[in-house]
Amino acid sequence: MTLRLYNTLTRSKDVFTPIDPKAVRLYVCGPTVYDYAHIGNARPVIVFDVLYRLLRHLYGPGHVTYVRNITDIDDKINARAKEEGVPIGDLTSRTTKQFHADIAALNVLEPTHEPRATETIPEIITLIKKLIANGHAYEAEGHVLFDVPSMKDYGRLSRRPLDDMIAGARVDVAPYKRGEMDFVLWKPSGPDLPGWDSPWGRGRPGWHIECSAMSWKHLGERFDIHGGGIDLIFPHHENEVAQTRCAFGSQVMANVWMHNGFLQIDGQKMSKSLGNFLTINEVLKDWPGEVLRFNMLRTHYRQPIDWTVKGLEESRRILDGFYNSATARLTEEARFAEPVLEALCDDLNTPRAIAELHALDRPNFQMQLGATLNALGFTGKHVEDKAARIDEHKVNALIQARLAARAAKNWAESDRLRAEIDALGVVLMDNKDGTTSWEVKR
Ligand SMILES: [Zn+2]
Repeated sequence: MTLRLYNTLTRSKDVFTPIDPKAVRLYVCGPTVYDYAHIGNARPVIVFDVLYRLLRHLYGPGHVTYVRNITDIDDKINARAKEEGVPIGDLTSRTTKQFHADIAALNVLEPTHEPRATETIPEIITLIKKLIANGHAYEAEGHVLFDVPSMKDYGRLSRRPLDDMIAGARVDVAPYKRGEMDFVLWKPSGPDLPGWDSPWGRGRPGWHIECSAMSWKHLGERFDIHGGGIDLIFPHHENEVAQTRCAFGSQVMANVWMHNGFLQIDGQKMSKSLGNFLTINEVLKDWPGEVLRFNMLRTHYRQPIDWTVKGLEESRRILDGFYNSATARLTEEARFAEPVLEALCDDLNTPRAIAELHALDRPNFQMQLGATLNALGFTGKHVEDKAARIDEHKVNALIQARLAARAAKNWAESDRLRAEIDALGVVLMDNKDGTTSWEVKR
């Protein structure tokens, strides 16, 4: 099976050839931990989980390394900790825990490594030293800046017009910058801010250098796939490329760059000011994690996704339908049916994969449907969770009481008991042989 992936770097769908098929390497930018993650953050987590599962299938689970970082040094974190009057470490460990709990409900596999910026300071300092030594960075007023004009092909990933990039960089005006587009690698920290000793004084890293250091530490100077949201292409990923390539004098940082599209809420950009800001945690209060996961995958990852309650309802209905057909088989092994695998190998075409699941939803294919749902990260967990909450003894006692009422032709009592059973989330089935069986309502 040939895997093709759309590469932002080449702007085309290319055949994926790993540098080393025995060690396929994937890096995805993770969250900055200062608050509950919003629903848009769930998209790369789910999309790249599917890619990780696919790569594990194609190359073997032991031959794929997946790194998703935690950004736990950031000015937004510093500001929030000050606002709440708590130590920075308390805020970041609390929000990291929240993030882990939220995404566990989405059935994502744990990455091989989940490095934190605070644990990667020696590598960050080493990289900055290399960049200064190579003539790609300079020190000014306690800051270290990347010298953008020193890199001849800066901007190759985002392909933005120069004016655009200058306008973007101008947001960050500073008298110590030599060039308008130069960006911060290291900045000084006052006594009230987190800081580490460095050759340039006590300070903290800029955001972009964190990812260059964490990917280098766990995946090396060059690796296979780098992923993230489309909003990260510029400046974050452009600057990651600049740092890593200039530090090592290489032509490429990652061979393939994959970006997932935006997420909108009811056709509008999500923002706190519009009052439509949704966290993963809030959505999980109303919907099972697997429904959220399924809803995310019904849209191709590169397309914008419109997040609506109607879409979630539809996702729940489809998924429950699949579970109804495959439910007894969900403990089967995880194995992709061939047509689903083909769809995924075509640039992770999950809408097509779901269409293929519909095709498997017919007699004699329940086993394949169950195994494929499993392989895609759908285990029917929420249906099982619901079942686990039902008191079986109580249901059986009520069924016996109802059978007795029916035998006595006490229809009113029989109806009342049926309603009571119904309220427990159970569906009754009166069999032809006079017995009654039940199952969990979906
Ligand atoms: Zn990053």
